[in-house]
Amino acid sequence: MKKQGKVYLIGAGPGDPGLITLKGLELLKICDAVVYDHLASESLLDWTRTDCRRIFVGKQIGHHSMKQPEINRILLTLAGEGLTVVRLKGGDPFVFGRGGEEVLALEQEGFPYELVPGVTSAIAVPECAGIPVTHREVSRSFHVITGHTQGRKDCLPPDFELYGKLPGTLVFLMGLKQLPLIVKGLLDSGKPPETPAAVIEKGTLPEQRIVRAALINLEKRVAEAGLKTPAVIVVGEVAAYNMCSALDKPLSGFRVGITGTERFAGKLTTLLETKGASCTWIYAMDLLSKADLPEMQNACKNLGAYSWLIFTSANGVTLFFQGLFKSRP
Ligand code: SAH
Repeated sequence: MKKQGKVYLIGAGPGDPGLITLKGLELLKICDAVVYDHLASESLLDWTRTDCRRIFVGKQIGHHSMKQPEINRILLTLAGEGLTVVRLKGGDPFVFGRGGEEVLALEQEGFPYELVPGVTSAIAVPECAGIPVTHREVSRSFHVITGHTQGRKDCLPPDFELYGKLPGTLVFLMGLKQLPLIVKGLLDSGKPPETPAAVIEKGTLPEQRIVRAALINLEKRVAEAGLKTPAVIVVGEVAAYNMCSALDKPLSGFRVGITGTERFAGKLTTLLETKGASCTWIYAMDLLSKADLPEMQNACKNLGAYSWLIFTSANGVTLFFQGLFKSRP
């Protein structure tokens, strides 16, 4: 019987590859094909099998993103081939991620699918910049708003004047290009000009940049700093907080290239990242056991003939003992 294909819509988190969920990562490791866009951390693809099909459907410099029906069609085709497909999306698939449209397309064609939530940039990007989206007695709600409405350039979403009246934290995604209009819209609808605000570029990544300013000065300060997308805009009293401990991050700003086996590189990466370093896996090593070769088996049986045993790595020790135990049933 032909294998039934399945699509997993997985949230890749906001950028830092460590912010994908365990469930998402495990599925990424076993899938036959991964369909990804430009916001997902590309280093996450290192976890896929070497024979996994990688299909990029994001926006390339100078080109428009692939149209949604085209992405849906790719998912349907891959699932139709009986493959286990991961649709990897930045942040969470259902927060302005058009995940719902992909789900509806799969439902219509009767393909099984599963959603794996992700860490959304709406919360994590402010958080990693030291801004809590809610805080006791300061902000009792937060509102995630798109700064961009499809097919309507240079204008704000309808009902925008409502947002300026909301007492909680306002978080705008996809809003950087519309920043002047957003600021004007909020001021016009009653937000005090001195309301604290922040714009965070490439949040959770080593290249992260933050501009903090009163709402009235935000546009000017962001232009001076030349902030670029992707960026999150936060408006509200909480934007004045800077809950970032600079202590215990001696490797902050350092980029470290890592080699070694997956297990070793994974452990070292975690340790270095907790000290603030940003790590890149330069190449991966595999262990190739020679324990079963006749030469090794003979050598193990005649250990008494050797006066020195020299090991050059911890893996060498492990493999040697595996061979030794095999040679002595
Ligand atoms: N589904 C995603 C959001 C997709 S909309 C999520 O849950 O996070 C894309 C917008 O998300 C960008 O325009 C930007 O506003 C925001 N964004 C995503 N990653 C970001 C990052 N690392 N830093 C700043 N903004 C980010």
